[in-house]
Amino acid sequence: MLESGKEYVSEVRAKILPAVDVVVAGGGTAGVIAALAAARNGAQTMLIEERGFVGGMLTGGNAGITMFTKYSGKTEEHVADLKCLAENPDELHVAKGIPMEITRRLLKEGSALGNHGTVGAYLFTSSEDFKRLLFEMLEEAHVKIRLHTMVVDVVKNGSAIEGIVLESKSGREVVPARQFIDATGDGDLSVRAGADYTVGVTKEDICATPDKIGMMSVMGVMFKVGNVDLDKVFDWMKEHPEHFRKHPFACFSYDEALERYRRGEMATFLVSREGEYPSVFQVYNLPTRGVVTLCCPSISGMDGCNADDISRAEIMISKMLARWMQGIRTIPGFEDAFLLQVPEMGVRETRHIQGDYLLGLMDIYEQKSFDDCIGFGAHPIDANPRPEWLKDPLTSYPPRWFFQIPFRSLLVKKLDNLLVAGRCISATHEAFGCIRPTVQCMVIGEAAGTAAAMAIQENLPLRKLSYDTLRARLKANGARC
Ligand SMILES: Cc1cc2nc3c(=O)[nH]c(=O)nc-3n(C[C@H](O)[C@H](O)[C@H](O)COP(=O)(O)OP(=O)(O)OC[C@H]3O[C@@H](n4cnc5c(N)ncnc54)[C@H](O)[C@@H]3O)c2cc1C
Repeated sequence: MLESGKEYVSEVRAKILPAVDVVVAGGGTAGVIAALAAARNGAQTMLIEERGFVGGMLTGGNAGITMFTKYSGKTEEHVADLKCLAENPDELHVAKGIPMEITRRLLKEGSALGNHGTVGAYLFTSSEDFKRLLFEMLEEAHVKIRLHTMVVDVVKNGSAIEGIVLESKSGREVVPARQFIDATGDGDLSVRAGADYTVGVTKEDICATPDKIGMMSVMGVMFKVGNVDLDKVFDWMKEHPEHFRKHPFACFSYDEALERYRRGEMATFLVSREGEYPSVFQVYNLPTRGVVTLCCPSISGMDGCNADDISRAEIMISKMLARWMQGIRTIPGFEDAFLLQVPEMGVRETRHIQGDYLLGLMDIYEQKSFDDCIGFGAHPIDANPRPEWLKDPLTSYPPRWFFQIPFRSLLVKKLDNLLVAGRCISATHEAFGCIRPTVQCMVIGEAAGTAAAMAIQENLPLRKLSYDTLRARLKANGARC
């Protein structure tokens, strides 16, 4: 008799696939880069992705590519930096390596819009071209790609993982490997392997009060709208400047935004409308004229690792978007706009896997130096809740601020041959607010893939890898660390 609430233990036979060197679970923002790095560093690599495309939030979620440059929040510093970016990008870039290579390829083929014709703070892309480019790059590197396949379990021997269990239309399979990278965003592989984790705000966060413990950043979607006359939107905002609001990461004034738009560059801005619905929304122009990405209707209080919650969230956002569109169509330039594409629900925050080092907000804010630094980030905190003194999280930083990411935050406690990459690395909720943006996740992916391949080549456990040798390899491959 099956009794609701009790556990049912299923025994399913699984076919064992040929072994590879490195398996990357999750082909999203961090996972794609991890797979490329592992393969380019000589490891036979397999990438497992539950969806029918790669890139995760980068492609399927329409996210922007943020933040390649050091961060200067105040207007005059930012304007000076943009000038410098045009003349001497090396002074400002914190991330290079594979993330830079990909974005330069996107820009070159006209599939992305950047700043000053180069890779600046923010880029927006044509997601379908982006998906194809990533497939091409993975094939060039001879990564074995398995799509429509979910990682559901692990085969362990003590503290070592021997293989991961896959579920797909082909049934259940096991792929054995020597090193594993968890780039599922939610830490699925780590949790199946017995790793400890926290969710949302914990007592380690500066903002922690009893009512905030466990709170996670909101879910949301960046959706595409077609048939938009942006020239008309700019004309309307000129007549009604009260509706224009600057976007903090990209440009500041109406004139700058318009100038960039006319130059065919990224010209993002916010539309604000008191007493109207939606009262404020972000507009991102895209390489295809007449199509924009809009952001961000949000859903709070739901858990992205709970199937019932996420199902409800999908239905709620669909209804919310219908109402948004009604409001948006009242704006000149948007009258004939239609909903072109809505991605699956974007989950900002779920589990934080416990690693050898827990990265905290003060490490980031005070720009702590780490011996095992494997890359830099420069994204100001983008998580809620956050500390009171960071109420204005965009101006509370010194000029040209950036931070270091330690390798130990990628090493999963209690497990020998598993690295975590992407938004679920070992960080507090607040530090996650600086780690979760795309460029930071890509940088982490490159380090994870490189380390996994090196551990195999040098026949060493991950924890015995020399930080200096790892950093030297990353630098030799063009990354910054
Ligand atoms: C609405 C929204 C807007 C955002 N906007 C921006 C922005 O403008 N700029 C910015 O820099 N950042 C933005 N972010 C944040 C950023 O996009 C993400 O934090 C980042 O992309 C996460 O990268 P990741 O590799 O950890 O996860 P993902 O990119 O989500 O990749 C995880 C991959 O793993 C796969 N997967 C998951 N579980 C399994 C499993 N069990 N088996 C197999 N595959 C699995 C998923 O399908 C996915 O492809 C936004 C986030 C959201 C939600």
